[in-house]
Amino acid sequence: MKQVLKEVIFKGVPISEGIAMGKLLFAEPWKGGHTPEFSINAPEIHKEIIRYRQAIFLSQKDLYHIQNILFREGAIEAVSIIDAHIQMLKDPFMNAFMEKKIRQIMKNIEYVFRLVITEYETKFAGTTNGSVRQKLLDVKDLSQRVLCNLHPKKQAMAKEIPPRSIIFGQELTPSQTAETSSELVKGFVTEICGTTSHTALIMRAKGIPCVANVNVELLLEYNHTSAIVDGYSGIVIINPEANTYEKYHQKGQTTSPLLIPIDPSSVSDQTMTQDCCKVSVSANIEHLDDLDLVKLYQVDEIGLCRSEFLFLGKDLRSFSEEEQYLMYRQVITRAGGRRVIFRAFDIGGDKGNCSLSPSSESNPSLGCRAIRFLLSHQDFFVLQLRALLRITSLGPMSILLPLISDVTELIEAKTLIQSVVTDLRSQGYQIIDNIQIGAMIEVPSAVLTCDLIAKECDFFSIGTNDLIQYTLATDRVSHNTQPYYKPTHPSIIRMIDHLIRETKKHRLPVNVCGEMAADPLMIPLLLGLGVRRLSCAPRYIPKIKKMISSLSLTQTKLLIKEILYCKTAPEVEHILKDHYQDLIASLTQSCS
Ligand code: PEP
Ligand code: MG
Repeated sequence: MKQVLKEVIFKGVPISEGIAMGKLLFAEPWKGGHTPEFSINAPEIHKEIIRYRQAIFLSQKDLYHIQNILFREGAIEAVSIIDAHIQMLKDPFMNAFMEKKIRQIMKNIEYVFRLVITEYETKFAGTTNGSVRQKLLDVKDLSQRVLCNLHPKKQAMAKEIPPRSIIFGQELTPSQTAETSSELVKGFVTEICGTTSHTALIMRAKGIPCVANVNVELLLEYNHTSAIVDGYSGIVIINPEANTYEKYHQKGQTTSPLLIPIDPSSVSDQTMTQDCCKVSVSANIEHLDDLDLVKLYQVDEIGLCRSEFLFLGKDLRSFSEEEQYLMYRQVITRAGGRRVIFRAFDIGGDKGNCSLSPSSESNPSLGCRAIRFLLSHQDFFVLQLRALLRITSLGPMSILLPLISDVTELIEAKTLIQSVVTDLRSQGYQIIDNIQIGAMIEVPSAVLTCDLIAKECDFFSIGTNDLIQYTLATDRVSHNTQPYYKPTHPSIIRMIDHLIRETKKHRLPVNVCGEMAADPLMIPLLLGLGVRRLSCAPRYIPKIKKMISSLSLTQTKLLIKEILYCKTAPEVEHILKDHYQDLIASLTQSCS
């Protein structure tokens, strides 16, 4: 008699949308094998240094190869993450440090490298800080690659993966994820993976569904067993019964995680609701290549250029005014006449790629970040301002100031900008008049004093990612605090409501540029609250435009009246899902 296997369900956290059906395959954590240890004598030092440089070179080559795969797959956002890894490998301080260590310890490079990395890992092990954890995983990822390249026999994970695999493991590294072929790997299940971690971003960019927070030890029993990963609701079903399989088979066909229409001409340039309200949809960019998608998806403007990401991985202090100017000039030229809102460097907190930023703040997100950092390092800020202001005659652009928490910061920054304009003009540069200056609203104090801030600037941009973090006192990166990170929390809704009401009085344009603007379920909420400008990563634009043009503004306004009475985030979410879940499912179908 044929044995009927029991269906088992694991509940986790959805990380990357989509349905995956396939066979579970355990990804062994990389233990690095045996690290040889032997002493070397003085004449051999040079040989070890050459071996180290060669391994770094090969690792960079691997990463460029991964970038090309990602680019071909259209996972543009993931390309810049890998770029950060390449820059870490190129870091002259790290390389000089390693070479110095070989000379000091007089042992083979594998041993010295492993020693340095282990010291680093031990120092930060057990950290609950999301960005430190992310950095730790990046370092682990890179060190595995370098050690592999020091051994003659390299790991060949991708080649050994059978088609339709669902990879599961404790924690996957960004490059491991980037390297997997989306033709072979249909899904991921992990124990640890923060929603905004690099690994998660790459999974989403590649369109591979993932569920995290699943006990991998329990799952091991089911290695090589059939499973379904539901990246929408965050469940993993082992040995699915025939009707479960059928249900998910249909769901999988009607939903596509990528949601990019095959025919870009189907994406409208004007985005209007059913009752003819125009909504502007613009793009958040972090990389020059993002600008290709901007053209494809007929974007109104670049609503947010995260300038610090243009130079990702490299120490921002190392860029001269001229180098920065050339980069901004490329952005404005490739934007093809669309306005670009350049955000001044957002350094510190979960970002931080500047050697000037404080390395030992106990709480970097509450420390010397963004505008605070810029105003306390004015030489550095002036350099960026000079480079930015020099492109004002090349195309429409505005400057956005991150993390304004007090109107005096804005006034101080504006005074500085004005003095830089005067200096540049006196040096013969052509700088246009009336450069628009905006404030990022992402701290509760800025929301509560937005009437004061509004009088001093030309537009607002609501950074919901940070606004949620700071309002709900929850780390936006850490997985542990993810349950507290609630975009539909009444406090967030009230804040946006207050901001929109106040800015109407001042006739100030307001843009929402956080992740909320990329989530179709949040669109009726934002429109109902009065938001008319949204900015999100290019790949979400088709989906967001379709959502807007399927909505009735009148209905969203009515719904907000009910939502403003809700006491909890799940209540709000329930109302939104009740009204729009089916619409989103049908749009997904038409988009794929
Ligand atoms: C935000 O905080 O919502 C935002 C858009 O800025 P970033 O994610 O770069 O902090
Ligand atoms: Mg922010």
